[in-house]
Amino acid sequence: MGKIKVLDEQLANQIAAGEVVERPASVVKELVENAVDAGSTTIDISIEEGGLAFIRVVDNGFGIEASDIVTAFQRHATSKISTGSDLFRIASLGFRGEALPSIAAVSRLQCLSSETASGLARRIVIEGGTVTIDEPANAPQGTDMTVRDLFYNTPARLKYMKAIQTELGHISDYINRIALAHPGIAFTFKHNGNILLRTLGTGDRLQVIAAVYGTNTAKVMLPVEAENADYELRGYISKPELTRANRNGITAVVNGRFIRSHAINQALLQAYHTLLPINRFPLAVIELGMHPSLLDVNVHPSKMEVRFSKEPELRTLIEAAVKQALTRQRHIPGPDSTR
Ligand code: ADP
Ligand code: MG
Repeated sequence: MGKIKVLDEQLANQIAAGEVVERPASVVKELVENAVDAGSTTIDISIEEGGLAFIRVVDNGFGIEASDIVTAFQRHATSKISTGSDLFRIASLGFRGEALPSIAAVSRLQCLSSETASGLARRIVIEGGTVTIDEPANAPQGTDMTVRDLFYNTPARLKYMKAIQTELGHISDYINRIALAHPGIAFTFKHNGNILLRTLGTGDRLQVIAAVYGTNTAKVMLPVEAENADYELRGYISKPELTRANRNGITAVVNGRFIRSHAINQALLQAYHTLLPINRFPLAVIELGMHPSLLDVNVHPSKMEVRFSKEPELRTLIEAAVKQALTRQRHIPGPDSTR
């Protein structure tokens, strides 16, 4: 007998959790992305103690079939892709089937879900990766996920967590950006019972900008719009008089996914060029739509990085669109500029 064995599923999930669940904000991100993928129009997020004690995400999406609910928590279980070629045309935020088993391996989790409006639902409770309750329940259509005591069984990771304010900051930042990415979804975010963000889900991105950054900021944003054969660009950029000390005010959204992209940032900054003082940065929400085959999202488990297959063309489009928006407002200050 050799010495090499395949690890059991629970241990494999705990190892994956080390990568997928870095901190409470990772849990919020994965649960909210699942809610977005489920076609939800409202998503309510509440957390306590920076998410370390309690995270709850309730959506009104299409729910999980009762017979699927335990499977959803198995490693590499996903309803979003099924063949190798699907990997090259991903239209959903998730596809790896790793989030739920990873989160469940390092917390006490309850999932209550119903795929019908009839109230028939299923409830499961998983503690440290072991299913302890699996029973019929009553709930409206959608999914209600509660994650308690994150990292209770991985003390080394728990010790590494920062102050509650720091963890809350990471979560807030993520929720602000996913709300900016999806103006058609009504988000509510509460920490220890206090509402920190509420968006209306009307599809008006300027309303979300106002909710996140304040109405005065929303008033000095300029719309940008452009397209070429491959890419569609929409969004808002700040007038040059509104600047920030860092790039954190730049939100890039690609096919509904909030990402970090050096290429997009560079193109944007290049367009402002000398309009910005040295070491000052604009506020912007840049949304790009493209055929999924032009995009590789399978770069990192967090899916925050992507690769564009036609990056130079994309940079040119962004730079031209932003330049045009800036020039237009300088030459013809119409009623639109005070909106
Ligand atoms: P992935 O999102 O990569 O598919 P997850 O582990 O996050 O993997 O979720 C596994 C599966 O559980 C999803 O593919 C989906 O079918 C189902 N699921 C998870 N969350 C929800 C939700 N909020 N609403 C509906 N289905 C969900
Ligand atoms: Mg997912």
